[in-house]
Amino acid sequence: MNNPIIVGTLALDTVETPFGRKEGVLGGSACYAALAASFFSHPGIVAVAGNDFPEEHLKLLSDKNINLDGLERTGKTFRWEGSYEYDMNEAHTKKTELNALSDFKARLPDSYRLATHIFLANIDPELQMKVVEQLENPEVIMLDTMNFWIENKKDKLLEVMKKANIIVMNDGEARMLHDTASLMKSAHETLKLGPEAVIIKKGEHGSLLFTKGKHFNAPGYPLEALKDPTGCGDSFGGGLIGHLAKKGVMDDRALRKGIVLGSAIASYNAEDFSVGRLTSITLADIEKRFGEMREMREF
Ligand code: AMP
Repeated sequence: MNNPIIVGTLALDTVETPFGRKEGVLGGSACYAALAASFFSHPGIVAVAGNDFPEEHLKLLSDKNINLDGLERTGKTFRWEGSYEYDMNEAHTKKTELNALSDFKARLPDSYRLATHIFLANIDPELQMKVVEQLENPEVIMLDTMNFWIENKKDKLLEVMKKANIIVMNDGEARMLHDTASLMKSAHETLKLGPEAVIIKKGEHGSLLFTKGKHFNAPGYPLEALKDPTGCGDSFGGGLIGHLAKKGVMDDRALRKGIVLGSAIASYNAEDFSVGRLTSITLADIEKRFGEMREMREF
């Protein structure tokens, strides 16, 4: 089995939704993505945590078979504060404190350099590029990003996008990246950068997969018990890279199945704050929801 490497943030998040407020809770793109990938593989993370990062969070990750060899410790942890209204597809960022992320070197331990499946989760595109440069034999490089980096480092982001096999964005980011109202147009412009697949996430409404000359539309899972969507995008990506690493192929079938598995995991993630749900569900729960999603689409 291939074990994916995930570079991203470990964070202490303060989140407010119509269903409550949590301060300084475990979050970050690498955290959500690695927990999601851990249902299919033993992912390794490349991330930085400050000296204020609670040991119990690290124990939680290593108890889930997540390899922490690529973890750096220094200074203060990255912090993000955001809120959502009833339309939870849009996060309103109130504060981003980069802290230790500003000096993060993203150095890969030797054991990671031969990894074949890599998820460049949401983090500074310059760090994403540093990771790519250290890989000896990458087969699948998947990249995610967010509006913060499109606004602040678009040139660097486009450079690293050219190295990716799969690019994942949400709908707002796709429109912003190519300054267009059309998701189709944005996906085609993004395919011109070189990846084999572009995935556009539409929050609770599912996601779109674009490959050369083909198009797949995955459903969202209709949730009643929605509490906090933070980390849904990262859980989606983590589930997908975990599945692709386990399968060892990246054909249309593997991509489609991985996208629906990723969506099922993301839907669970939204049922509680922080990693509450990702740490309480099992692979059987994910497969059950996967089955329901398959049935929803039969006509
Ligand atoms: P998602 O809801 O999947 O888009 O990601 C939410 C996670 O992204 C939160 O746990 C945040 O800590 C993390 N995050 C927020 N802003 C950034 C940023 N600019 N770069 C990297 N990670 C971020």
